[in-house]
Amino acid sequence: MSSEIPTRADLAALPSYVPGASVPGAIKLASNEVPGGPLPSVAEAIARATAEANRYPDMAATALVERLSAELDVATNRIAVGCGSVSLCQQFVQATCHPGEEVVFAWRSFEAYPIVTQVGNATPVRVPLTHSHTHDLDAMLAAITPKTRLVFVCNPNNPTGTTVDRQELTRFLDRVPPHVVVVLDEAYREFVTDADVPDGLEFARARRNVAVLRTFSKAYGLAGLRVGYAIAAPELVDAVRKVYVAFSVNAVAQAAAIASLDAKEELLARCADMALERERVRDTLLELGYEVPPTQANFVWLPLGERTMAFAEHALEHKVVVRPFAGEGARVTIGTPSENDVFLEAARSF
Ligand SMILES: *Cc1c(COP(=O)(O)O)cnc(C)c1O
Repeated sequence: MSSEIPTRADLAALPSYVPGASVPGAIKLASNEVPGGPLPSVAEAIARATAEANRYPDMAATALVERLSAELDVATNRIAVGCGSVSLCQQFVQATCHPGEEVVFAWRSFEAYPIVTQVGNATPVRVPLTHSHTHDLDAMLAAITPKTRLVFVCNPNNPTGTTVDRQELTRFLDRVPPHVVVVLDEAYREFVTDADVPDGLEFARARRNVAVLRTFSKAYGLAGLRVGYAIAAPELVDAVRKVYVAFSVNAVAQAAAIASLDAKEELLARCADMALERERVRDTLLELGYEVPPTQANFVWLPLGERTMAFAEHALEHKVVVRPFAGEGARVTIGTPSENDVFLEAARSF
């Protein structure tokens, strides 16, 4: 006799996270990674940490939290670390939502938001981007109901690269009810060059319901090691720490994150070079006749609509892997200048 194993029926409807593809021999511009591997000093710290892999990691990531506290001038009780900021996104849902409560976010935005929301038994509320591919903050405000517990604002937005400025964000935060938590996801903060795009810390310091998410995966080049952090009011940080999967930020990641902060100047100089490449790539695409929204991240968005999948296939024929969202557009990470040239040639011949 067969019997059903009683897993959650709603999981069947869960969208799965589609990671950027890796194709052997092809240039990967699909996952917003930086092209360079760890600096020698970071690689050494990683090697040293692996020698003690028989030991459990420091569950509180004390040294990393203290270091971040000094770097950011934020008290240690306002910092939570997580196994990548994806994990922190999920922790925020778990820390704020009862079953059936609502999480508001823009769409399209980071594909993890609907997943972590549903995993957390909460209900996703997607608010379409404006025609210029930016967050529609007024519509997001209007989407807040008595059931809303959490709002994600991804700034710059993944996958469009667009931003909300200080004035727009201030006006929005002034209107969000104080019991609704706003998470400002700043995974791409270090790539921002426009002074009108606010540092979310300004808001997290001053407002009890605002949190900032940052990661070592992007500008700091540690995507493979999984470590990110949140900054928020101590009560919120306490709740987020409660739903932390024990020991999930491993010891190698903690050591590598500290070593990356030691090498901050050098890593941020790479970001400045990337920003120049970003403008070169965007300008060239514009000259070729593509629509490309202004971007402050390490990628460009090509809203190609129905031509998206054909574009991605064409790029692949030229040995470049981009990240297509069928029917919407393609996101293309900025790589090294020569990688970008290969991509631009593909774009030219599409
Ligand atoms: C890449 C990314 C993250 C970071 O994810 P990690 O889990 O830290 O690797 C978070 N938010 C957005 C919007 C991203 O694009």
